[in-house]
Amino acid sequence: MKTVFERSVPGRHCTILPACDVPERKPEETRTAPLRLPELSETDLSRHYTELAGQTFGVNDGFYPLGSCTMKYNPKINEEIAGLEGFAKIHPTQENAQGCLKAIYLAEKYFTEITGMDAMTFEPAAGAHGELTGLMLIKRYHELTGHPERNEIIVPDTAHGTNPASSSMCGFKVINIASAEDGCVDLEKLEAVCGEHTAGLMLTNPNTLGIFDKNILDITRIVHKAGGLCYYDGANLNPVMGIARPGDMGFDCIHLNLHKSFSTPHGGGGPGSGPVGCKALLADYLPGRRVVKDGDVYRYTEEKPESIGKVRSFHGNFLVMIKALTYVLTLGKEGIPEVAKNAVLNANYIKSLLEDTYDVFRKGTCMHEFVLTLERLKKETGVSALDVAKALQDYDMHPPTMYFPINVHEALMIEPTETESKETLDKAAAAYLEIYRKAYEDPEYLHNAPHRSPIGRPDEVGAARHPKVKYDFEG
Ligand SMILES: *Cc1c(COP(=O)(O)O)cnc(C)c1O
Repeated sequence: MKTVFERSVPGRHCTILPACDVPERKPEETRTAPLRLPELSETDLSRHYTELAGQTFGVNDGFYPLGSCTMKYNPKINEEIAGLEGFAKIHPTQENAQGCLKAIYLAEKYFTEITGMDAMTFEPAAGAHGELTGLMLIKRYHELTGHPERNEIIVPDTAHGTNPASSSMCGFKVINIASAEDGCVDLEKLEAVCGEHTAGLMLTNPNTLGIFDKNILDITRIVHKAGGLCYYDGANLNPVMGIARPGDMGFDCIHLNLHKSFSTPHGGGGPGSGPVGCKALLADYLPGRRVVKDGDVYRYTEEKPESIGKVRSFHGNFLVMIKALTYVLTLGKEGIPEVAKNAVLNANYIKSLLEDTYDVFRKGTCMHEFVLTLERLKKETGVSALDVAKALQDYDMHPPTMYFPINVHEALMIEPTETESKETLDKAAAAYLEIYRKAYEDPEYLHNAPHRSPIGRPDEVGAARHPKVKYDFEG
């Protein structure tokens, strides 16, 4: 399609400016060449953006099973509540807005209950930011309890990529451990690396293979015995929430991704929210001030002297928290575990339709997502995970996550989410199976897929390394 500049016709416009009511600038103060803005009528402009919107694909267009990201349908009521003037237009320095303070107070109450923690901050702006915040709490704990030598964080190889990155950014040495054959933490390897330098362990659970670690209680016991603390990466709490609580499994600290599990559209760069919950032993180190209730009045506490200090301006992304709170209050005690069960059911259902044809990387029951490896298909037909992902675009759906986790060759990581119907899952599975057949019959067709999208195979590396973000007027 044409860019807005290519649509431009000199002299056309859709604004009528009011008469100038400020002193006119002297000629030497004004620019000599006119701004090169596109010139369009309102009709053309409106059609331009409508056409542009039609070129994208979102969760409102169809199935969007992007693993490790939870692209689910989010109820519109959450947007409506977050859009209320009393929430959306409040000034962040207004100290005594009782309704807003109550919302923060309730959010802390419900999310600490869901996670089994004692206290929570809503400052962190995303999951990785929450990880850094949680690790800073762990670091502060060891410093203040006389163990600054504890400078190692253990990270299993099935962790989300942000776990080692955050640990390193926080100044810890990252100790990687390989998983056992079943995709769970290898307890012997864990025991071997635990010692007097262990600050803690970061566990992504369910891990990036979509597996709930069956040894989770042994894991926290081993790390605690060595004097370390346990961090739970709860970005993907969908299959766990309302069913089991990380706090009860022995974890001292957790972050959630409200923009995955608790209703905020995920992707496009935000805004997100990665609240960090912790047990009482870390609560004094939390950033900023907390909200408490005195009789009928909500008020801020003072920041504790031991606090790691603020990690984000004001209250974090307050409206994302409002959406999450609305979601939790709407679903209630019965609805939350139902979300979890449906997330697990949907993933296992579509897996069961595919597993006789495709190779599942780690067999067995998965949580909210699972990983296929197309290594054999590629060897036999030359059709890669990329080809299959591209071909899926011709079936009115978004491809799954590709080539992640990095320890799986030709990986496709599928997360249907709890909000998809059986019909959608059946249709998606049928598309996967048809593509599989085509791989043997006509691999060339798949190498050239997609056949129906406006853009087929962009140079992704080129686009990332040399992005063209401005219009080239001369060329
Ligand atoms: C998405 C994700 C993260 C990172 O969250 P961001 O909000 O993208 O920073 C961390 N851990 C897991 C398991 C995730 O899925």
